[in-house]
Parts: sequence; C-alpha cells; structure tokens
Amino acid sequence: MKSQLIDIHQHVPSDPELDARVQACAETGVVKQVLLGLPESRSPGDNARVLKAHRLHPDLFIPFYGVDMDIDGPGDILRARDRGFTGLKFIGPLRPYNDRAYFPFYETAAELNLPVLFHLGIVANMNGWRDCDSNLMRPIHLDHIARRMPELTVIGAHLGNPWCEEAAMSCRWNPNLFFDLSGSLLKYRSPHFLNDLLWWKPEGPYPAPDKTFAWQKILFGTDVASSQMEDVRQDYEKLMTALNLSAPIRSGIWTDTAARILRLTL
Ligand SMILES: [Zn+2]
Repeated sequence: MKSQLIDIHQHVPSDPELDARVQACAETGVVKQVLLGLPESRSPGDNARVLKAHRLHPDLFIPFYGVDMDIDGPGDILRARDRGFTGLKFIGPLRPYNDRAYFPFYETAAELNLPVLFHLGIVANMNGWRDCDSNLMRPIHLDHIARRMPELTVIGAHLGNPWCEEAAMSCRWNPNLFFDLSGSLLKYRSPHFLNDLLWWKPEGPYPAPDKTFAWQKILFGTDVASSQMEDVRQDYEKLMTALNLSAPIRSGIWTDTAARILRLTL
C-alpha cells in the first residue's frame, strides 16, 4: 500500500515554489501537511500565504495560524478560525510560554478545538530572530500548559532541542502532549539516545498515566526545504528500523496519531 504520511511541521514555500512542494509531498508519500504561519511582526509574516496555499490545495495543506503572542488577543484566534485556520503556531514570545498572560490564547484554542504547535528550544540565528530568547521556549513550559488544560492538544517541535530531557518527561506525564523530531535532532542524536529518553511502556515500571508507549507520542515532521523532505523521511525510517519499532507504533508516528489529533479521516 502506498504510504500516507502526515507531516505535522512545515512552512509555506514562496509562491513559485508551491508546485515543487506539492510534487515533493507526492514523492515522499505525504498526503497531509501542516503549514505553520508566522505573524506579521516577524517580517515577513506569512499567515496570508499559508491560507492561500490551503485554498489552492485544500486536501493537502492544513493551515495553522501564526499567533503574535504579544500583540494578538483571543479575538484574533477566533477570527483566524473563521478565516479557515485549523490550528495555531507559537514562536518568539517575550515571556515564557507558560506565563499566565498567554493562557487566554490556550483557553480559546481549547474551546475552539484548535491543536497548538509550539516552536521549542534554540532558534536559527538569522534576520528577524536576533533579539530572541530561546530560554522562553523551553519544553518544561508545555508541561504546565498541558497539565493545566488536559482538553488542549499540544505539540512541541524538535523534541525541545537541546532540552530533550525536559521534553521527554513532560511528554510522559501529559497524555495531551506530543512532539515532532524535526530539525537537526535526527542528524546528531543516535537512536540509542532517543530511546533512552522515550523509555516508558504500558506495563511499566513507572507507566505514563494513559498507559502508552513513549513512541506513541511522537509525530512525523519535516521542517525543511521541499528537496530535503525525502531525506527527513529516511532519517525517521532509519530510526524506527534501528529501534525495531513495531508496525502499529510506526504507523502511529507516520500517520495515525496525527490523524487523530488533527481530526482527519484519510
Ligand atoms: Zn519550523
């Protein structure tokens, strides 16, 4: 059977490159791809282009609204939902993600059934991201958010790189908290390292409250140029092979878990 991958972490390419992205999805077996918007204050913002790509390819692209955490209010979340966004992306806050000033965003997202994806950990050092404190985007902040709002679906990017230990233990204690392994992680961390962090099993010892395997909380995400997507798919594949993950766990990572949390039927 042809693979049906769901890519939980991508960004919208430039308009002339959109066709190449659609092609790359077809070649990689990606049937649904989340496009994470950036707010206008991170110029250039691209929420409008994310929505446009979704309208051109509604069966492929899933639009997440890039929230301007220190300018937007809950009303902007409602308007984003009404425009067609089906999830939220957070990055670059001026306070820690779990600052109480931000909780109205999370409460609104929970009420509207919008899953939320947080950039975590270090940010690329490039224009627009010079005055950016990565310490405000630590995975432990998601532990607070996820346990306070069990009805909210929370996705953390990059397994919190470089704070992977915080990410893993936060993941274990919160059934509503998931992580992708995009970014440089799979290039420099061994399967053994990741398996040491993602260790819990339903039968225990020390099981997670939802009695899951740790790997049931992991999602496939690429976060690279279209031409590199297949390379990331292969990195995930190598990891799963090295750890001898079972077929149901693999299909959870590729497709099933994301389908459930995004409420998709393939
Ligand atoms: Zn990204």
